[in-house]
Amino acid sequence: MNILARLLNPHSPALPPLRRHRGIELKSEPEIETMRKSSWIVATVLKEVGELAKPGMTTAQLDEYAEHRIRELGATPSFKGYHGFPASICICLNDEVVHGIPSKTKVIQKGDLLKVDTGAYQGGFHGDSCITVAIGRVKPKAKKLMEVAEAALYKGIAQVKPGNHLLDVAGAIEDHVQASGFTIVEDYTGHGVGRNLHEPPSVFHFRTNQLPNVELKPGMTLAIEPIVNAGSKQTKTLRDRWTVVTVDKSLSAQFEHTVLVTEEGHEILTDRSQI
Ligand code: MG
Ligand code: MG
Repeated sequence: MNILARLLNPHSPALPPLRRHRGIELKSEPEIETMRKSSWIVATVLKEVGELAKPGMTTAQLDEYAEHRIRELGATPSFKGYHGFPASICICLNDEVVHGIPSKTKVIQKGDLLKVDTGAYQGGFHGDSCITVAIGRVKPKAKKLMEVAEAALYKGIAQVKPGNHLLDVAGAIEDHVQASGFTIVEDYTGHGVGRNLHEPPSVFHFRTNQLPNVELKPGMTLAIEPIVNAGSKQTKTLRDRWTVVTVDKSLSAQFEHTVLVTEEGHEILTDRSQI
């Protein structure tokens, strides 16, 4: 029964109250179970798209495949139509940073760094994740950039536990990236994820006092998604009003997971390792 019907029917059980901490929704166990499914769909599709991506394919072909699979697995693509975004995946090559639009004329080449970001919505909840994939053999610097971006994400995730704060996550990511000599993009942050694709809090990947340093509580679900550049951290948006690129044309890599804060620590809801 949908919410409106429940509200209009005096005999239906009351809706459980939303639990919140500083404006951030703490998900209940049934809601977390629903998010596990949405996130599993995201993880499955990303794994498949990552294996499918080959030189000669267009980025639109990968989008078509992803949309088909998201729907086949019982969800709808979170991104399609979101603020007018026209596709089911954001796809970025090399110096493109985020929000790249799949295109029938953009052909994947050997040596490319390919970033695929997608979300799936079912049962009233979203999952959100991003991977970077090397197309064939890539230059050593590109390989290192990917490794640093992925390791930075896991350094941040390792700090996710009750009692820690968002700055613990941010600091661990920033320290790892700075030690590598690369830079962290500051123009985009991670976010809470759940009923909405983007919801409070902002999850930052660098130390700042400009955003609330929220204490982590069990039931929070966070999309952590550091973007790491080989050169300058500065970015700009292209004239299509979506695609973001590095200003100095340096390479960019990103990994993202939807992560649940548990009583003991955390659970990576978009984990691909068991799929
Ligand atoms: Mg994402
Ligand atoms: Mg995200």
